[in-house]
Amino acid sequence: MAERVDTLINNALIVTMNPSRDVIPKGYVAVREGKIVDVGAGDGTNKYQADEVFSVERAVVTPGFICVHTHLYGILLTGSPWFGIIEPPSDFQQNLQRIWWPLDESLTYEDIYVSALLGSIMLARTGTTFFKDMLDAPNSVEKSLDYIEKAAKEVGIKGYVGFSVTQRRSIEEGYRMLDENERFVRKTWSDPNAKVKGIFTVHASFTVSDDLLMKTKELADKYGTPYALHVEEGLIDVYHSIERYGKRPIERMRDIGFLSPKLIAVHVVQANDDELKILKQYDVKIAHNPMSNMINGVGVPPVPKMLAMGITVGLGNDGYVMDVFDNMRAAYLIHKVAMKDPRVTDPTKIVEMATIDAAKVLGVDKHIGSIEVGKAADLTIISPNFVHTPLDERTVYGHLVNTFTGHDVWGVMVDGSWVVKDRKIVTLDTDRVMSYAHKVINNLWDRMSAMKEKYKLEYLKP
Ligand SMILES: [Zn+2]
Repeated sequence: MAERVDTLINNALIVTMNPSRDVIPKGYVAVREGKIVDVGAGDGTNKYQADEVFSVERAVVTPGFICVHTHLYGILLTGSPWFGIIEPPSDFQQNLQRIWWPLDESLTYEDIYVSALLGSIMLARTGTTFFKDMLDAPNSVEKSLDYIEKAAKEVGIKGYVGFSVTQRRSIEEGYRMLDENERFVRKTWSDPNAKVKGIFTVHASFTVSDDLLMKTKELADKYGTPYALHVEEGLIDVYHSIERYGKRPIERMRDIGFLSPKLIAVHVVQANDDELKILKQYDVKIAHNPMSNMINGVGVPPVPKMLAMGITVGLGNDGYVMDVFDNMRAAYLIHKVAMKDPRVTDPTKIVEMATIDAAKVLGVDKHIGSIEVGKAADLTIISPNFVHTPLDERTVYGHLVNTFTGHDVWGVMVDGSWVVKDRKIVTLDTDRVMSYAHKVINNLWDRMSAMKEKYKLEYLKP
């Protein structure tokens, strides 16, 4: 008598990302009550009777992809007329002053909700099931994280969310933002079934005090959550720290006691070898965002060196392109260019950075990041319409990194529930979301245009 399961994904090429990185050329994944109960070779229908059996053409099943760093509100500016209003920024700090700070100061709760809805749809539709978001919205602080939680839940994906604490406008404001993080952490970690949970996040070392950094770490320790901040994305971070403290940012953070294995250091583009050794010593985790580094022109982080040192690196998108395949491809290529050496990245490691290593960065590798019995049934089913070389256990990592795109994603399951099926979001009506969201975004763009003089005065004076 065949054992009963809820869902059986059958006849698939399975990229498990388990410790021995087994790839099963033709196998099945059995799902019951939101968990993976079996994964193996052969025809799963011999063993299991399922409510639903899926056998999709040319199916590749991977763990749901994990994005270790995003800002869902970042997608609100794609194609925005704001870029035609401002003087184009020529460096990273101007980028913040002229683009991101005018945007984040304009955000209402509705903008936050809409961006999280759209962002969650874009992530899910292209195969990502878990994200870590940092919200910057200094004029909409209290209860803001609830809006991201609501949106992600409506779409059906999971994540960690934090308010990006900054004291760039006032010292006091930073503590209010920290309070919002603590409120959301308390609310979500007390619920064992919470799909979206709070973590403690800080903008960057050049916008916060030592006291705020350490209060953040104390709270993260108290609640046992990860904590994150942008580290050395642009050169201002380094120069500010050297001028004010006589130390580079990572040295400063070490000396005040801020570093630990639960810290997610985002970017780490400008770090020197001494700082990399410090990060390794404290087992700090790295969020690598290659496409963001490219569009911002900040440089290329020494990721191959980090990997060679045994530092754990996961892949993020920093609120830019949400498609994990684009980000994997960029991570695969950018270091070859930067180091003028085609050997420095390989496809398997890149896929690890978007799955199991990403789970390690966020401290969730016991639950997600690989297809193993007992883990959550967070699965991505890729079914390309056309593939030009044989698709099998020899070639699959190469296809994942070189060939596939988000449009090849056929299905996405989170905790055993379908979020994407037959290439469509099934949890909500995306056409309705679009027409609502576009109205909200046009409104935001109008408000930003109306205040351009303010930003001329504050940020663009000679
Ligand atoms: Zn970021």
